[in-house]
Amino acid sequence: RAKELGRKRFVVFDETLAKGMVDVLAMEGELRQALHHDQFQPYFQPICRLCDAKVVGYEALMRWNHPQLGLLKPGDFLKVAEDSGLIEAIDWRMFELSCGLLSRYGAKDAFMTFNVSALHLRHPDFDARLIRMVEAIGLAPSRLIAEVTEGALLDNPEIVRATLERLREVGIGAALDDFGTGYSSLSYLHSLPLRMLKIDKAFVQELDKTGNTNSTTVVAAILALAHALNIQVIAEGIETRAQRDALMAMGCEMGQGYLLGYPEPVDCWLDSRSNTASGDVPKACGPSTD
Ligand code: C2E
Ligand code: MG
Ligand code: MG
Ligand code: MG
Repeated sequence: RAKELGRKRFVVFDETLAKGMVDVLAMEGELRQALHHDQFQPYFQPICRLCDAKVVGYEALMRWNHPQLGLLKPGDFLKVAEDSGLIEAIDWRMFELSCGLLSRYGAKDAFMTFNVSALHLRHPDFDARLIRMVEAIGLAPSRLIAEVTEGALLDNPEIVRATLERLREVGIGAALDDFGTGYSSLSYLHSLPLRMLKIDKAFVQELDKTGNTNSTTVVAAILALAHALNIQVIAEGIETRAQRDALMAMGCEMGQGYLLGYPEPVDCWLDSRSNTASGDVPKACGPSTD
């Protein structure tokens, strides 16, 4: 009774929470249970070379197979997972599963990117733990790329830089995610050991609209800057051929988006899976959830 009253005081409504789970505390409990019952699953979305649609890599994206609510995406639970700190344990499980899937199902020379929550980058032993895990799984470190956001850099650019340096020493790359949406201080770009930069879909999705000169200018500037610094570029959220063609014409080398392939559960991939994206979901996967 007292417990129930105490609990009620903390009920918070948040439109970003999954329908049917509006109580943050309830969701925290469910996230704990989900870890215990292994309900998190990485989906892989192909990253393609734009000129020939060859799959050169994958981004591992977290999904939660919720027993009652079905398949949930990060937008449904990431905020609670981060605020509660549970994201750390969830992410470690995701890294481990993703690395295993890459070595079992990934194309031989393909890389995999994974999203690193800002919380991890505050831990002095994040890099050491990641390196140990990659060694234990037996993956070539050069196939792995940690995605960080500008927000994480803002917290503590020096610690993040040192962490990414140590990862680079063993061959693990880094990518700056959602580029252009955050605080976009260009000054740190050259001081970070970045292998890749991902142009946010907000810019990409403006490219095929008429009167898009602003987005075109921004994307062209990002490409010029990245290439001058020897950083490869991935465009996110490509949904139309016109967007892809515009990016190709501007010299963008890689892309990701529904035109090229949806995030998919990897365990349905057949060994004979084509290594070229068609934009179609393989039949074995059934309808995409995205
Ligand atoms: P992100 O890293 O920027 O990932 C790209 C998001 O865009 C994914 O959403 C993906 O499904 C979606 N997307 C891909 N192609 C298209 C497209 O053509 N059009 C549109 N509209 N969207 C597209 P998702 O999977 O819901 O993930 C959302 C965010 O959650 C990610 O954004 C990332 O910041 C975070 N996240 C995902 N997986 C993890 C994880 O394992 N750990 C952590 N800490 N964060 C994760
Ligand atoms: Mg990402
Ligand atoms: Mg992104
Ligand atoms: Mg994002």
